[in-house]
Amino acid sequence: MSAGRGVSDPAPPLTTTLDLVRRVILLERKQGYQNRAATGGLHRYFQHQFGKYTLDERTAPLVQGLLRDLKRYEGMGSVAERHTQTEIVLRRLDDPAWTVEVPAPRDTAIGPVSPAHRGDAESMARVRGGTAPSPAATGPATAVAWQTTGTAAPEDVAHAQFAQSGTLPVPDRSRRSSAMRPCGLVSRASPDSPTGQSQATPGQAAPTKVGEGVPPAERLDQPLNAALKIRPQEWEKLERLGVRTVEDALYYLPRDHYDCRNPVPLNKLRLGMSTTIVGALQAVNMRKTARNHTIVEAKIADGTAVVRVGWFNQQHVARVLRPHIGQRIAVSGHTELYNGSLQFVPRDYEFPDEDDAIHTAGLVPVYPLTEGLTQRWLRGTIGRALDAGLRLVEEPVPEALRRDYELLPLVEALRAYHRPAGEEEKRAATHRLAFDELLCVSIGMLRRKRDWQQGAPARPIAHETDTLERFEDELPFRLTGAQRRVLRAILSDMARTVPMSRLLQGDVGSGKTVVAAAALLAAAQAGLQGAIMAPTEILAEQHARSMARVLVPFGIEVALLTGSVKGPDRKRVYAGAANGTIPVLVGTHALIQEGVTFDRLALAVVDEQHRFGVGQRALLRQKGYNPHVLAMTATPIPRTLSLTLYGDLDVSVIDERPPGRQPIETSWVPSDATAYRLVREQVRAGRQAYVVCPLVEESDKSEARAAVAEQKRLQRDVFPDLVVGLLHGKMKGTEKESILKSFRDGAIQVLVATSVVEVGIDVPNATVMVVQEANRFGLAQLHQFRGRVGRGAEQSYCILLAEGASAAGQQRLQAIASTDDGFKLAEEDLRLRGPGEFWGTRQSGVPELTVAGVGDARAIEQARGAAERVVASDPDLALPEHRLLAARVERFWSRGSERS
Ligand code: ADP
Ligand code: MG
Repeated sequence: MSAGRGVSDPAPPLTTTLDLVRRVILLERKQGYQNRAATGGLHRYFQHQFGKYTLDERTAPLVQGLLRDLKRYEGMGSVAERHTQTEIVLRRLDDPAWTVEVPAPRDTAIGPVSPAHRGDAESMARVRGGTAPSPAATGPATAVAWQTTGTAAPEDVAHAQFAQSGTLPVPDRSRRSSAMRPCGLVSRASPDSPTGQSQATPGQAAPTKVGEGVPPAERLDQPLNAALKIRPQEWEKLERLGVRTVEDALYYLPRDHYDCRNPVPLNKLRLGMSTTIVGALQAVNMRKTARNHTIVEAKIADGTAVVRVGWFNQQHVARVLRPHIGQRIAVSGHTELYNGSLQFVPRDYEFPDEDDAIHTAGLVPVYPLTEGLTQRWLRGTIGRALDAGLRLVEEPVPEALRRDYELLPLVEALRAYHRPAGEEEKRAATHRLAFDELLCVSIGMLRRKRDWQQGAPARPIAHETDTLERFEDELPFRLTGAQRRVLRAILSDMARTVPMSRLLQGDVGSGKTVVAAAALLAAAQAGLQGAIMAPTEILAEQHARSMARVLVPFGIEVALLTGSVKGPDRKRVYAGAANGTIPVLVGTHALIQEGVTFDRLALAVVDEQHRFGVGQRALLRQKGYNPHVLAMTATPIPRTLSLTLYGDLDVSVIDERPPGRQPIETSWVPSDATAYRLVREQVRAGRQAYVVCPLVEESDKSEARAAVAEQKRLQRDVFPDLVVGLLHGKMKGTEKESILKSFRDGAIQVLVATSVVEVGIDVPNATVMVVQEANRFGLAQLHQFRGRVGRGAEQSYCILLAEGASAAGQQRLQAIASTDDGFKLAEEDLRLRGPGEFWGTRQSGVPELTVAGVGDARAIEQARGAAERVVASDPDLALPEHRLLAARVERFWSRGSERS
């Protein structure tokens, strides 16, 4: 091959030569990867062919990339590697970003090639201004002698390997053979990401062969650094991520995927888009802003437009980018307006051509990192772990269940969760892994329930029908149908020798307290003792008062035990509980302190149960001998989820409000002026208002301090003519009680409070709830605040003040303003954020869910159903077909902190 020949030979259109590459590659495959399908070897041959073209910034990266691929191909020692490399070449050729962008011919002329540039991939990128060849002229290749013989070569090694194995190797990566298409960022978290645009065609992915290329691991619990080569410094960091074994690596799941299938053409970028772009890196500049910040600015072009990408205060990026000028770069991020023109703000970037295509082809996994590990390294390592370890994965879910619920096999799900072929597969994989987690939860819960049901018996508590009728007669209102229904369920539980373990769910204001009072009455009338524990002193005092109101007419004494009950009073309560003369004891955590003993505690009620840890609830239970337990919560949990989350309990729901309640008018306003005008109007009409201060994260103390300041401000500047009170968590019990009494009596008109008002306070005359910086509170909490009003017959209002809320914050505020039905809100929360968000509300030592954080109600129901089937047929998971499942359940629960 002489240096001058390329200049004189007329070159065919570039597409013809590109097509030739494809045909040579296919021939290479047929011939067994010997690097003989083109004279002198693939790289050399095409270096010569492409040397005939003048390339521009669109075509250069493609050609340059191809030549690099071919060069690498030449250097590869195994058939498997070479096969993978042919995939990469074919994919690059299929990339529509290139085929589409080859412009229509202006004429058939072939641009001159400077000998200085010919064949030099690096310099080709810098050649400018040739005429791009025509795609229309694609035809059969004519100019190539592509069948050659006689080249002696190290390739014979590869050939020999191939001959030995006798089959065409299909590396794992072959499933990524789908064409490389443009990029958007797929995010589990954001449903509005551009992923919806691209659905993978079913069957697009080649069948998976697991574990080719990387030596297989021996066992799933083999240390990863024994299965793969990992340097000590990186090993240490992997351990920090909790990745120690091969299996850990398989379950180290990506938090996200880049969608490198459909990049947005640069001329289609619009303001506010969040996506990935792919193009040639044209230039890299660095400049200082007036405030001495550094901006690294890159220009990226894809033939449709040029876009500026700006890195803010990341000088090192310039150093990384500069050597890659002329190459293809993929950048994920979003668009912004900067100095009047569209600019791309990067989040992440990489060079698709630099590596084999695990970083830029298809849906590319993005893993949570720790300091000192790069995404690229981790992605490569997990990829190797998958290759080495997937083959060892056994299926824990029995065949019948898997068939009935149409679940992917576990091994397939793990593979696809890391490297899905498309959205559909990713969903199926997520579903399967979420199912597994929820199945472990459900089985654990069902067994827990079975354990206590089969444990020692409780004292049965019979109730007298006429007593309950009298109880209702004594009330100032009629019980709602829902209250009656749940009360029946509770009383019939209590009549049995199996200890009750029931969760009573009811929206704020639905009237749970009176139901608990009726149950306590039944216990007391049976000559036994009952106790109710509340999370705050205020609530405990309020309960003591309302219990006394309904129970004293029956001759039943109600005693109170909180941290504020001291000295002889406390002694008296201790003695009364211990000798059984106190039939009903209301209190806070003080109830579960060591000194407290009961003579015959038969019913333990825990109000706002999610505010207690499982250990605290267990302690209360231990104060009696297998007492019946009633847990109450106003945090609505979607029904589907509560079956799983509270699978060890029986769940009753009060789904009806007391009659005469008007819906609370909720609005979301940016300015306080509107809010305070309404407060004033309502106070003038004889009503009262709450103002909840912003959340202060650091501590209760600083939150209290902020509330003190806010009360002063409101009293002095906004409501000088009204009485503005203050309530916060750091006040003494007696102080709180006297403030609350003044508020209840109407002496205080506006009560400034921290989030302590969240729980339970019941002042029906209060009709306005103002929440400052509402965007900082969660949905459930906001709903709780709102529940403090609307407790009487008057129209009530909830005003959410929020300026500059984030998108997620706005979504929450919108949701809360749109309905005051807590269960609807909970469903919405489940839809928006998935079951993982509800986990904390149980606080039961249920291990964290890693996959089921994604909204997938179907998985919740299926897992519950499957768990029931398994436990019904084999409660101890002792059958051989449940062996693996039993191990998984065991492992899952051992991750939880404590068990009750
Ligand atoms: P929560 O379920 O949030 O604990 P409470 O038990 O505090 O609700 O009840 C809220 C208010 O509704 C209380 O003032 C209570 O007296 C009143 N209430 C409860 N049941 C009824 C009913 N059936 N009819 C009218 N008012 C009721
Ligand atoms: Mg309550």
